[in-house]
Amino acid sequence: MMTWRMGLSAKFGALIAIALVVLLGVVLLMLQRQHAMQAEVVRVGGDAMRTLIMSRLRKRGEATIGQVADSLVNPLYYFDLDSIGGIARDVMRQPDVAYVLVYDTNGDIIHDGSGDIPTYGQAMNDPLAYEVVSARGEHTQLTAGVLDVSAPISVGEQRLGGVRIGFSLTSARADEEQASARMSQRLNEIGKRHLQWIVVLLLSLVGLAVLVSYALQRALVRPIRQLAGAAREIEAGNFAAEIPDSRRQDEVGDLLRAFGRMSESIGRHDRDIRRMAYTDPLTGLANRLAFRENLDRRVVQLQGAGREMALLFADIDDFKRVNDSLGHDAGDEVLVQFANRIREAVSRYGGSDAMLARFGGDEFVVLLQADERHGADMRALASSVAENLVSELSRPIRVQERQVFLGTSIGITLFPDDAREAATLMKNGDIAMYQAKVAGKNCFRFFSRAMDQAVARRIRMETDLRGAWERGELSLAYQPVYRLSDRRLVGAEALLRWQHEEQGAIAPSAFIDVAEQSGLIERIGPEVLRAACRDAASWSAANGEALFVSVNVSPRQLRSGDLPRHVTRALQESGLAPHALHLELTETTIISDEKQASAMLSKLRGEGVRVWLDDFGTGFSGLSHLRRVPVDGVKIDRSFVSDVTRDPDDLALTTAIIAMAHSLGIIVVAEGIEDEQQYALLKQRNCDLGQGYWFGRPVAAREFAKLIA
Ligand code: C2E
Ligand code: MG
Ligand code: MG
Repeated sequence: MMTWRMGLSAKFGALIAIALVVLLGVVLLMLQRQHAMQAEVVRVGGDAMRTLIMSRLRKRGEATIGQVADSLVNPLYYFDLDSIGGIARDVMRQPDVAYVLVYDTNGDIIHDGSGDIPTYGQAMNDPLAYEVVSARGEHTQLTAGVLDVSAPISVGEQRLGGVRIGFSLTSARADEEQASARMSQRLNEIGKRHLQWIVVLLLSLVGLAVLVSYALQRALVRPIRQLAGAAREIEAGNFAAEIPDSRRQDEVGDLLRAFGRMSESIGRHDRDIRRMAYTDPLTGLANRLAFRENLDRRVVQLQGAGREMALLFADIDDFKRVNDSLGHDAGDEVLVQFANRIREAVSRYGGSDAMLARFGGDEFVVLLQADERHGADMRALASSVAENLVSELSRPIRVQERQVFLGTSIGITLFPDDAREAATLMKNGDIAMYQAKVAGKNCFRFFSRAMDQAVARRIRMETDLRGAWERGELSLAYQPVYRLSDRRLVGAEALLRWQHEEQGAIAPSAFIDVAEQSGLIERIGPEVLRAACRDAASWSAANGEALFVSVNVSPRQLRSGDLPRHVTRALQESGLAPHALHLELTETTIISDEKQASAMLSKLRGEGVRVWLDDFGTGFSGLSHLRRVPVDGVKIDRSFVSDVTRDPDDLALTTAIIAMAHSLGIIVVAEGIEDEQQYALLKQRNCDLGQGYWFGRPVAAREFAKLIA
């Protein structure tokens, strides 16, 4: 329903119009009254004049009739017609006299002032005659046209007759009419003058009304309208809306100024809120939300312009290590320094349109847009920026008096080559970054469709792996470990096997990583430990001589801090002697958090459990590292073992490792012995234990039990 709305100026206008209409009504009434009064005045004036004229005429008539009656006494007495005629004619000559009649006592005409008196002897038979004849003295009668004055003529007591004079009223009427015509003309003139004044008055009132409404419009309506407009703008989020001039020194001025201040403060608050919503408080960079909005905008813009851009997803490698070992304050400091380095690198190499954001955690995203400087080769620009970032960020960072070495993995995705929507681009960037991590970290990778599929497979694998232990798809295989000096079986390494219900056997190299990354290893690891201990306990019983089992432990298991508890429980449940359990840890697991790892390993070793360093030689710790980490043995990686017979360097290194380990009281295990020469060589160099296909492949628990027997 539409509500009918009346603005202020319309209301003022209506008010003024009503006032004017009322005024006009009053004026019209006044005019009408004036008109009526004029008519009254004319009538009353006419009456007065007529009365005056008539009384004057009557007086004259009465004076005249007296004289004439006196002068006619003698002639009538003697019946001297000539004299009577003379007197009558004299009278007739006077102005306004219509007739003169001299009559006898019977009322018959004796003379009428004419020469031959045609009416002589005739009785007066006009309507006035009866009163004239019967009157005893002077008598006056008035008709429409005539004032009739008569007087009897007598000598002593004897009546001789009478005389009548008729005065015509025509000229008196004419005078009267003329006078009243003049009067009404004057009155009309006066009325017209009044009317002019009234019209002038009315016009000036209208002018005044227009002036007043204009002034109202300027002083009230316009500023209020402007305020309403500004308020609407502010409502719509435009705080730059113009607030009308506020130098006025009145209430409206106060209102305008107050409004201006209010809108400024709202604007300020809005900016603050926006800043808070769109920036990362730690680094001051744009946050995910700001980035996403910017990306959406650019996608639309660039799509039209046919231009390209690149997204670089940078993730600090093993950042958690910093938080875990140095504390969160140090972690924050590292992030700030990282942010500054990225900012510098991006501003130096990324061009003016680049945008940088922190996505929370240790993830930074850079948006690059090709400009004229770089031509159209987005890929080249992106890889040069990524290369610079990787090298800039791998420089050591000083935090809390310590040097921290961190790497960065960067995933790059290109618009519009890889995707045209923001959401897909973000997903691609993530995938590419992930691939950079998989590829060994501290490097960059461009997104490719194959990656997308790899990630899909990975996600699928993660889903399948969840609950695989409970479904019985996961089992342990055991690879025998021999003493080289006498080729005696001394133990076995437990190796996890996955028999996927559709895909068949899946290699640990494929799924261990997934379990590690997804955290599933924290559920599977303890199960492996329990199963291995249980199996190993049964071997000892069968063999008489204790065989050890070595179990692989992932970095994540070590970090979680639950490892000692799980170990204790597995040993208690199985009844296995602690020294028959060996734990295999990789170098990188220990290096990433030396302090905590050392403490935990010491604790485990305190209980009698042995700890071996797996894949030794592939990490970067070097031999000197062995001094600081409390381990019982090292397993030389099979990449060295496979080449000992061919590569003198590998042989030298292997020999050095053995010598060094022995000097520290650590035993040495060789992995991946595939032929006899390798075995012989290692035996010759005093390597303690060995495993490999030449000795025996990993086999199921039941088969291993047979092997012991
Ligand atoms: P690893 O601990 O170094 O295990 C030795 C790997 O070398 C095993 O591969 C084994 O089958 C293989 N191998 C043994 N002898 C030879 C040989 O003569 N020639 C060659 N070419 N290879 C040989 P596998 O079973 O595929 O395991 C791969 C990796 O998966 C293991 O390396 C270990 O790091 C990880 N892994 C296996 N089971 C577990 C587990 O239960 N928990 C954890 N955390 N990791 C496991
Ligand atoms: Mg191992
Ligand atoms: Mg190994």
